Amino acid sequence: MKADIHPKYYQAKVICNCGNTFVTGSTKEEIRVEVCAKCHPFYTGTQKATRVDGRIDKFNRKYGLGQ
Ligand SMILES: [Zn+2]
Repeated sequence: MKADIHPKYYQAKVICNCGNTFVTGSTKEEIRVEVCAKCHPFYTGTQKATRVDGRIDKFNRKYGLGQ
């Protein structure tokens, strides 16, 4: 078993489409992403999504689609 097979580990600069940048550990020096924790709907719209789900649920019940 070889011990020196680990790739080089950088403090990678992550650049998001929204303009946000942050640093993370990676084997790449620079990473471009389309969404980050700042602009991803999973992080920014959790409460909004819950409300939308409730509305869809009501809609489905009203039109008998939720069964
Ligand atoms: Zn972003």
